[in-house]
Amino acid sequence: MTKYGLVIDQERCIGCHACAVTCKQENNVPMGQYWNRVLTEGGDKIDTPAGTYPEHGEDGTLDMGYQPTACQHCENAPCVKVCPVNATYTRDDGIVEIDYDKCIGCRYCMAACPYNARVFNWEESKTIPEEGTGDVPARPQGVVEKCTFCSHRVDEGLDPACVVNCPADARIFGDLDNEESTVSRYIKKYETHRLLEDRGTDPKTYYIRGEMSPGRPQTSDKMESELDEEDLSTWTPPEEPSADESSGAGASHGSVSADAMPHVPVVNNGGDD
Ligand code: SF4
Ligand code: SF4
Repeated sequence: MTKYGLVIDQERCIGCHACAVTCKQENNVPMGQYWNRVLTEGGDKIDTPAGTYPEHGEDGTLDMGYQPTACQHCENAPCVKVCPVNATYTRDDGIVEIDYDKCIGCRYCMAACPYNARVFNWEESKTIPEEGTGDVPARPQGVVEKCTFCSHRVDEGLDPACVVNCPADARIFGDLDNEESTVSRYIKKYETHRLLEDRGTDPKTYYIRGEMSPGRPQTSDKMESELDEEDLSTWTPPEEPSADESSGAGASHGSVSADAMPHVPVVNNGGDD
């Protein structure tokens, strides 16, 4: 069986919020809503370090870290259990999804989710530009929505948009049930933790802390094959794709085509030109 999961390497995360932004673009997440958030660990406010300068500037304790968070696609998902109309369900591949036609907006799932991963559409969906930026249809007013691991992309054999667009390669997606997959090998190699493990939700998002993983390609291609060598520190850049490969034929987790890139809106009258 396939069971999809995500590894986020917090040592590599630079807190740029690219994952949060690309998620909004790809999934037409309405104004004011986020499926994917990057929290700051440090001071009391976002983007502030713990400690003060100059007191802590020289002794190395002026510190700031990042905690990217979204739906953890829990194996034992409380949101699935409490939904009175079975609108929230777990797919065979482990992705927790919502049937928006069934959702009655009771928000029991929001109360049950310990990760604050869900948002409710109080208003009619509004995006800029109005027609949206991705292929995923906007959700109606009065329903709850959340991260889907970009299941529309996964179904095409592609990685989620946040994984492809993370400039620090801090996010790895793949099959947790396949011990040869990149995610499984990272979990085996590094010490990982999951959020609120004591709640018994069995989340499928893992975090690496304390040891920086070796460099990976800047795009998601070769994601599953980059670890051919047992020693993760010996990664070498992938070869240039052949003409056939770059045409996009047979895309899967491991090959990338122009279609694989998440949607980025065309901005008119913007930029420097
Ligand atoms: S895109 Fe990558 S580096 Fe940037 S905030 Fe998200 S996880 Fe961190
Ligand atoms: S993180 Fe929240 S919304 Fe996602 S599966 Fe777990 S309980 Fe459900």
